Amino acid sequence: MGTFLFVTDLHGSRWKYERTLGLAEELRAELVVNGGDMFPHGRLHEEQARFLRDFLDPLFARYQAAGIRHLGLTANDDLRAHDPLFESVCGKYPLVGNLAGRCIAVGPHEFIGMNLVTDFPFRLKDRARMDARDFRFPPQSGRGILSIPGGWEEIPDWPAYAGTLPTIEEELTRLPEPRDPARAVYVLHGPPSGLGLDVCRGGAAVGSPATLAFLEKRQPLLSLHGHIHESPEVSGAWKATIGRTVCIQPGQSADGLAVVVGHLETMTFERRILADP
Ligand SMILES: [Zn+2]
Repeated sequence: MGTFLFVTDLHGSRWKYERTLGLAEELRAELVVNGGDMFPHGRLHEEQARFLRDFLDPLFARYQAAGIRHLGLTANDDLRAHDPLFESVCGKYPLVGNLAGRCIAVGPHEFIGMNLVTDFPFRLKDRARMDARDFRFPPQSGRGILSIPGGWEEIPDWPAYAGTLPTIEEELTRLPEPRDPARAVYVLHGPPSGLGLDVCRGGAAVGSPATLAFLEKRQPLLSLHGHIHESPEVSGAWKATIGRTVCIQPGQSADGLAVVVGHLETMTFERRILADP
């Protein structure tokens, strides 16, 4: 497989999407992977649906025309109510794939994605899960909500409700298994704990112990993460290893596009910050 690009947490920034495709064309990249939180912030149903229809759909058409594969997934700020629309937009283009809960082969490699994250203080719980059964919930900023078509559903007792859902630990074991872990790439929106890839401003490390344990055991070639935009700036780390597995979390910044240019044959990775032209 040739060059690939990894971006994450673009949150509807159109220039960042444009710049990513531009760089992919410039470098003759074979593949762009988007690690989630693709749509605009704001939790407005109509705004996210419009972004999908009016921007992502034509953008994916350009990937198709350029012969560049695009594998992406929605994440915690992308409303679950729009998952069917995202799936149908991806489905229009043979080179575009929705990675959430799936395994998609590119050359000799298999990409496996998960868009669920360890619970956090924020109210939108569409993708939130207990990390494991002994999980201690962080302080909550209000009543939990779930997106439903055209609106919201309040969760009266989030911890009780979360207890009825599979944990991150359980969800990871339910993902499709790669034929050969040594060639597999996991795209997991939430970062693992313990590697400096999960550090918030102020220093709190909020990564997933279940994800760390899973990667330690499964030992894929590579894992790609996002979610904590500021972590590389705070911890100084965007890359780490767990045994034979390389883990990457490039973060995302307000004043530039954070993008990783990678080569799986040589396992070389470069993180670039590109300015808004
Ligand atoms: Zn996120």
